Parts: sequence; structure tokens; C-alpha cells
Amino acid sequence: MSGCHSSLESFSHSLLYKWRWQFLNSPNLLWVDLIKSCSESDGGFCMALRSNSKKGVWMGIVNTLGNGHSIRLWNDVWCGDIMLRARFSRLYVVASDVDALVSDYWDGQDWRFQWVRNFDGGVLVDQALQLRNLLQSVHLSARRDSWLWSFGYEDTFLVKETRLQLDRAILPSGGLATRWNRVVLIRIPTRDNLDRRGLDIDSVLCLVCQQAREDINHLFFTCSVALQIWFKVAKWVELHIHSFFSVEEQLQWVDGLTTVRSKRSILDSVCSTLLWVLWTFRNDIVFGNKKMKKEILFDSVVSFSFNWYRARNCKASISWTEWLKNPVIN
Ligand SMILES: [Zn+2]
Repeated sequence: MSGCHSSLESFSHSLLYKWRWQFLNSPNLLWVDLIKSCSESDGGFCMALRSNSKKGVWMGIVNTLGNGHSIRLWNDVWCGDIMLRARFSRLYVVASDVDALVSDYWDGQDWRFQWVRNFDGGVLVDQALQLRNLLQSVHLSARRDSWLWSFGYEDTFLVKETRLQLDRAILPSGGLATRWNRVVLIRIPTRDNLDRRGLDIDSVLCLVCQQAREDINHLFFTCSVALQIWFKVAKWVELHIHSFFSVEEQLQWVDGLTTVRSKRSILDSVCSTLLWVLWTFRNDIVFGNKKMKKEILFDSVVSFSFNWYRARNCKASISWTEWLKNPVIN
């Protein structure tokens, strides 16, 4: 894909992923230290990797085992192509520590598992045997765990390759290129997500309003700042937008609109941009950037969504003036 068929969005994501890639593989760089010292743990840079998803761009990055100090035994994909938690679901329930690192179960010579209770038959024994078989040829080493980029021909990260993969992943399936939320949003490192993953963070409160737990639904739909922007967008597009409580609800709303496809596509761009703007605003607070000011959030949604939509729909004839007035008016 090239020219207007390629996506600006994929390109910008690729650049972001490059930073993340460096974060993972060059822990001694000054900026990596900086992020670690002034944000929660990894600043959210690595959380997207800790998923069991085989969709999206992170499927191209795989853990390569070293000393097992940074890979979670049950909850990371490190042996085979799914998490052990999913593969041995019954065993997982009786594991003594579900957040254990791989190294916690290695005594230097062999694997030592601990369970919360004894079992002497049935599925648990079968699964324990399978697990032992799976791991019998796996040994920890002295070098640190690392990450391997499995797209393309190189082991390392290439922006061009990533951009292609993103385009492939997003463009044909969703039809709507700006649905970054489908791919990325569900797993973003909100404070709630970080807390659930056992990261030691100073507060789980929303950084924007300090009033509620910062989870995805709060941040994007029920936080006071989010509500204000949704309200302004509703006025702008002259549609009744009811309150959403989840990303899925919001997507279903767009999909269910009885309007022509191009208008749905525009609304989808607008909604996705809104979520992206809120996330950027939130991150600016975390990193102390303050680039995205509260007063210009709505204006940012209007202008960014126009650029994104136009970049993706070369034949779209809507002008900036029309867009400003109401992008979905007939
Ligand atoms: Zn809030």
C-alpha cells in the first residue's frame, strides 16, 4: 500500500511502536530512565505486549526467554503461542501464585511448581503432565529476557514493515481505518488496568477529574471532561448521542445508525478521534506535556478527524468549511 491508500494513522502508530520497541530493548537509554522515573512503572509502554491477543500489531512481538525475570509464567505469551493460563486453565486455578514470574518456578536446574492444594487424579494430573512435557526442554539462562520482532525479514523493528502490517490488520477487516480503538483501545494502560496487573501505582484515581477510578469506560465516557466533549460533538453533528458506558456500546451505536455508509464512516472517524484526543490529553497530564489543552479538546476532535478522514478517503469531496458546519449533514 502506498500513497493515499496507506494510512497516516498506521504511520503514526508505527512511530509510536518504534519508541516502545526501543523502550523494551534499550533499557539504558536516558529517555527510558526518564519515563521510568517520572511515571508509573513503564509509563504504560509495555502493557500492550502483555496480552493474549493474536490480533493487532503486538502479535509481531514475541518474548524470548532469558532469565525469566520479566515474563509472567501464566499471563504472558512466552511458551507456544498462547498464555499458559489459557492452555492449562484448570491448573491455573490451583496455582499458588497466578502472577508469578517464570523465574519463580525455576530452581536453577528444574521446574518447581507449587499448588494451593494437592491433587491425585483427573484433569489436573493430565494438565500437570502436559505442562511438564511442554517445559522439559525449556531452560532459563543468565541473560535478560528480550523481545523479538517477528514481522518481516529482520529481528528488529522497522517502521515501514510495521506500517504495512497495521494497514493489513486494520484496513480490510474493519473497513474503517480510524478504528484504532478496535485494535488498541481495549488494552490501553489505564490506572485501573495497571492496578489489575499488579503494578504498584500511587493512585487509581482518574488523572483528569480525580473523582473516580480510571478505567476505560470512565476515561472515555463518564468522566466530566469526556461528557463535555461528547455533548459538544452531539451538538456539532446535530444528532442525539446517548450516554455510552463502554467502547463496544459506542461502536454499536455508530454501526446501528440508519444513514448512508459514508456518513457512518465520518461519524466513526469523529468518535475514534474523540477517544484518541481524550487519551492524548490524559497522557499529557501523566507526562507533564500539557500540549493538549482542555479548552481545545473539541477543536482538536474537529480538525484531527477531518485530516484522518480525508487521508483515508481520497475521493471524499467534503470541504473543511462543510466539515466545520456539520460533517454528516445531508
Ligand atoms: Zn475522570
